[in-house]
Amino acid sequence: MAAEDITSTGLGSGRQHLHPLKRRGLVLLRLTAIVFAVLLFCEFLIYYLVIFRCSWPAVKTPADAGALGTPEPVLRAMFLADTHLLGAVRGHWLDKLRREWQMERAFQTTLWLLQPEVVFILGDVFDEGKWSSSQAWVDDVGRFWKIFRHPPHVQLRAVAGNHDIGFHYQMNTYKIKRFEKVFNPERLFSWKGINFCVPGTQLPADSTGGPWLISCPCLSFVMVNSVALEGDGCDICSGAEAELLEISHWLNCSREEHRPQECGDGQRLPASAPILLQHFPLYRRNDANCSGEDAAPPDEKYTPFKERYDALSQEASRKLLWWLRPRLVLSGHTHSACEVLHGAGVLEVSVPSFSWRNRNNPSFIMGSVTPTEYALAKCYLPCEDTVLTTYCTAAGGLVLLTLVHAGLVASPFHFGWNMLRKFKTK
Ligand SMILES: [Zn+2]
Repeated sequence: MAAEDITSTGLGSGRQHLHPLKRRGLVLLRLTAIVFAVLLFCEFLIYYLVIFRCSWPAVKTPADAGALGTPEPVLRAMFLADTHLLGAVRGHWLDKLRREWQMERAFQTTLWLLQPEVVFILGDVFDEGKWSSSQAWVDDVGRFWKIFRHPPHVQLRAVAGNHDIGFHYQMNTYKIKRFEKVFNPERLFSWKGINFCVPGTQLPADSTGGPWLISCPCLSFVMVNSVALEGDGCDICSGAEAELLEISHWLNCSREEHRPQECGDGQRLPASAPILLQHFPLYRRNDANCSGEDAAPPDEKYTPFKERYDALSQEASRKLLWWLRPRLVLSGHTHSACEVLHGAGVLEVSVPSFSWRNRNNPSFIMGSVTPTEYALAKCYLPCEDTVLTTYCTAAGGLVLLTLVHAGLVASPFHFGWNMLRKFKTK
């Protein structure tokens, strides 16, 4: 009896003695607190909660394997693709605002929690680079640097995609140059304070748009402008192939134990096989063999890939594998995940889109890389469904709370309490 009195006075009818204005103020305060808490969760905290679960994969190093000497340094590289920052023409302003906020929160949270040393974006950074005016381009680039701002010790590199410079028929020197100006492909890539571009290996900046070789004392990345691998002998394509051949020459010289005369006396590149970074995937028939929750949906998996549109041509793919003999290939463009083994077991990873505009469950790849080994892990970002469900549930809760306070609906608490009392008295 005493407990009943306390409960009914303290939690229930006590509120009814409040002045109506005070009561309304209390309701407003509660509603504001709920709205604030939900916004805080869906727009900030969820990124920390989800990305906190990711960790850098362990890579086998000689020291781990029991060899003597200091352990090899491990490079922590983050690979993401297809950010598709909307431009001036396509997309609603709210869509643009929302997607860019999501990507900014995801990237900044990742930087804070996981601290990658280098970030590679595998093309289609911008959605409308293929046709944007110079003013729209400047605007897009400004927003890009705001979203993907990073401390100076983190390197950020990008390869061009068909949305950045256009497909082969839209691509021109002007578009390639303005893309490269943003991402500084001619700058030397240094890691942990060591300048590791070897004289003679960094090709001069010209109008062909790559490929670019980024090398460190022990490992190298070749960044390919895959749009220029059409193979039709156009000026840009011929230039890109010539550069690839030159890189191939330098890589081969480094691999030779007894240096052939034609290699000259220049300093060697790392002997380890390079990692290839490009926008278009190497040729594959379709996505039928791709698996995982973020692979292409079943109705798209069996659609044949069009060469030079969905993937590189068979010829260009063969050339890349022959000339560069990479140990790993990472590509974008398909917006879905896939792992493919090429030729003599070279793994290619298709990195899904980083934008919620293209996926419900975007992700990025985390790579721990040493000269001889690598280990990859995928880090999923929050699912958009989870965020929307949270918002819908909160909106339903707010409506219910308002109705209860307006006296239009019985409080679920009182309803439950009364039921319990009835049950007890029986
Ligand atoms: Zn693309």
